Amino acid sequence: MTYFDTQLVHGQSVGDNSTRAVNPPIYNSSTFAFETVREYPRWDYARSGNPTREAVEKQVAALEHGIAGFAFSSGLAAIHAALSIFDPGDHIITGDNIYGGTYSIIHEYFERWGLSFSEADTTSEQALEDAFISAQQAGKKVKAVYFEVLTNPLLKMSDVSVVSRIAHKYGAIVIIDNTFVTPFGQQPLDAGADIVLHSATKYLSGHSDITAGVAVTNSEELASKLYFALNRVGGALSPQDCNLLRRGIQTLALRMERHQSNALTVAQRLENNQYVTHVNYPGLPSNAYHALASEQLHTFGGVLSFEFDDRVDAEKMLDSLELFTVAVSLGAVESLAELPCRMTHFELPREERLKHGITDGLVRLSIGIEDVRDLIEDLDQAIHAALR
Ligand code: PLP
Repeated sequence: MTYFDTQLVHGQSVGDNSTRAVNPPIYNSSTFAFETVREYPRWDYARSGNPTREAVEKQVAALEHGIAGFAFSSGLAAIHAALSIFDPGDHIITGDNIYGGTYSIIHEYFERWGLSFSEADTTSEQALEDAFISAQQAGKKVKAVYFEVLTNPLLKMSDVSVVSRIAHKYGAIVIIDNTFVTPFGQQPLDAGADIVLHSATKYLSGHSDITAGVAVTNSEELASKLYFALNRVGGALSPQDCNLLRRGIQTLALRMERHQSNALTVAQRLENNQYVTHVNYPGLPSNAYHALASEQLHTFGGVLSFEFDDRVDAEKMLDSLELFTVAVSLGAVESLAELPCRMTHFELPREERLKHGITDGLVRLSIGIEDVRDLIEDLDQAIHAALR
């Protein structure tokens, strides 16, 4: 048995490397030869499976402590697959602060196909119980709870074991988007979750060079449903991108350690800034989720958000950044900054956004692995340039 950081580097063999190459081969082949008509090869057609994809799928399954992993062409494709396992009439309770694209696929796509959804604050045991009770009173068949362990962009934290206990009591499964935490931070399947999803576009690949998604489960039944969605809907990750994902995963631990130490320094600096009203980062001792995060997570991650008082124009501050790139996405080596209301969360109606605390002035930072002194200098000069 090797430790997690060693597993990251060495990956999983699928027994296809006859050349002793240090890195697994990339198979640019959509089809594979049959020995004879009656002898089915291990891989026959690349959408159904291929050695390059299988290697990374085994890798993410092992890292998340699941029995099967699936690699999709984007995080949203993995989310689509996980939600496609339900039947018309099924009801799903979602966290009340989920990624905008997930919110959109739920309301603009899955509701059209007969699924229904309600929201709950999954950080509160009572609120989740209440959501189950009111869904049941409305005659709904609650089949799943879907949430993000650390929410985007407010970094609220849910306790996976508490949510899983309540969900399982009512016969529902637990689906978690673990993008912000990564398996370096926590393996939700160990705490009772049934499916773990990632936008592997973010920390897992780590270099802003691919879009990718993964789904991992520890149930044979759920695995076969996820595989059906991957193979039949067809949103599989290409061999080249599987290789980039595999390579990115090798440095996950190193990157997460630097993301966290940089993010904590930036968060502390912002917390002490006279123009900043509050900072959302679970690594700060003042944060409401600090105790829970310290107990359950191996990292506080590299994303934080904050607000200015009315002396600073948040949009102007973002436009004044020179080192940070103003862009959506997160979790890569370079630092990114954005205004959720205009960028990542524009899909949410304004009232919905405000209800959850995503104000018009909230700024989100994805802290990269640069020298933190440069990041602080850039933030300081941009804040100065944006004073009203
Ligand atoms: N989940 C979270 C938490 C995200 O932040 C994102 C994208 O930003 C997604 C899912 C969707 O992933 P992708 O963009 O790879 O489709």
